[in-house]
Amino acid sequence: MANTLSKKIIIVGGGAGGLELAAKLGRRFGRETVFLIDKEHDHIWKPSLHEVAAGTLDIHREGLSYFMLARDCHFTFLPGEMLALDRDKREISLAPVVGPDHEEVFPARSVEYDYLVLCVGSQTNFFGTKGADEYAVALDSTAQAERFRLKLLNELISTHKRAQKGLDDDLCISIVGGGATGVELAAELLEASADLHFYGVNTPGHTQQRAVRITLMEGADRILSALPEKVSASAHALLVQRGVRVQTGVRVAEIGKHVIIDAEGKEYPSDLCVWAAGIKAPAFLCHVGLPVNRLNQLIVDAYLRTEDPNIWAIGDCAQAPWGDSGTYLPARAQVAHQQASYLYRRFSQELRGRPPQQHPFQFKDYGSLVSVGQSRGVGSLMGVLVGRSWFVKGVLARGMYMSLHLMHHMAVLGWVRTFTLALGRLLSKRAAPRVKLH
Ligand SMILES: Cc1cc2nc3c(=O)[nH]c(=O)nc-3n(C[C@H](O)[C@H](O)[C@H](O)COP(=O)(O)OP(=O)(O)OC[C@H]3O[C@@H](n4cnc5c(N)ncnc54)[C@H](O)[C@@H]3O)c2cc1C
Repeated sequence: MANTLSKKIIIVGGGAGGLELAAKLGRRFGRETVFLIDKEHDHIWKPSLHEVAAGTLDIHREGLSYFMLARDCHFTFLPGEMLALDRDKREISLAPVVGPDHEEVFPARSVEYDYLVLCVGSQTNFFGTKGADEYAVALDSTAQAERFRLKLLNELISTHKRAQKGLDDDLCISIVGGGATGVELAAELLEASADLHFYGVNTPGHTQQRAVRITLMEGADRILSALPEKVSASAHALLVQRGVRVQTGVRVAEIGKHVIIDAEGKEYPSDLCVWAAGIKAPAFLCHVGLPVNRLNQLIVDAYLRTEDPNIWAIGDCAQAPWGDSGTYLPARAQVAHQQASYLYRRFSQELRGRPPQQHPFQFKDYGSLVSVGQSRGVGSLMGVLVGRSWFVKGVLARGMYMSLHLMHHMAVLGWVRTFTLALGRLLSKRAAPRVKLH
């Protein structure tokens, strides 16, 4: 036992998968054994980023400090961005951590491991679309979501500038990608922009406020094409009913400052564009000497192990087989959560000096739920939960959608703190403006 506990497990990436793994292992084996590395100082539940972008969720209240989590869950937190891997020396290299005035807080350093788990997530894939880098906003991080929120606020109050230029005064927001992220963002933005008008976001002397037109663009013939048809039809109807323009079968070819052009050359006015049409894993994974696919994802086997027997990968950054189906697991929080639980059991056995579990990882699909605003959702619950696929919508679906977030908090903080935190947030929501105005 003493021998195995002197081993070091290094987990890189404290997101939906990595943080849960670090918290569970830390509570059991302690900070001499379990180390978490992340390039950020605060953890945010990534599926909430569309709410940060719309201003309905305040990142300064929602973010959880990794240092605080490390103290409470008994793991060691090492801040820094992983840049490289030396498999022969079993060590990873971290970039220096710099402060707000570019002062060095931690120098560049190397960290040794016995077992390495990579859970560095994914980022937006623009697929080389012309102008996307310059004019489209991605929602990969809190910084990007905050940037979008401020742009939205500024656009809403810039009525007079546009009127002086004789421009159409509607604010056109386009969302490229009709998957779960695009649909959720469209609904959230619609509610938030109505609230911003309610709070009187305006410029002095201009009582006329800009109407917000939201267009959701999808290349396939229906939105939420990965989900059952009934779910996409229901989400489509809810969005249209609320005033979102849903354009399917549109292949975006170019993004300009105030326009989007599709593959047929048709132009769509666009003042703000969000790209939610695909992901890829971080580029540095292509240079760590392990096999990757065309999306930079590390290729892992049914035990979530890479080609190297001491390195595992979970979550969005891994291409893991989906049972014997011949397909791969989707990039979803539910997958990352279950993979973290699987590896927790595996390492628990190993660190206690027992032979690790032999059975491969099996994903249990509990279905997909999509939030369509603060009070509505749609989705399907899958066989493992209800015996057959079951369509849900409305407040029930929204409640179930929120439970995924609560389950994540529960795995990390335990149920007492999760309950206290949820209650605190519910109460503070009643006292604060519903959208963040500053
Ligand atoms: C707006 C939005 C809405 C979504 N909605 C849903 C939903 O409703 N349901 C659902 O199932 N999924 C949803 N997803 C997808 C879900 O968020 C991801 O599948 C999930 O977060 C993947 O977990 P992960 O642990 O692999 O990565 P992440 O949660 O992305 O965490 C990756 C972590 O790695 C860190 N990191 C990255 N690179 C490095 C590096 N080089 N060095 C150190 N640290 C690094 C990051 O800072 C981050 O903390 C949504 C995603 C977005 C963007």
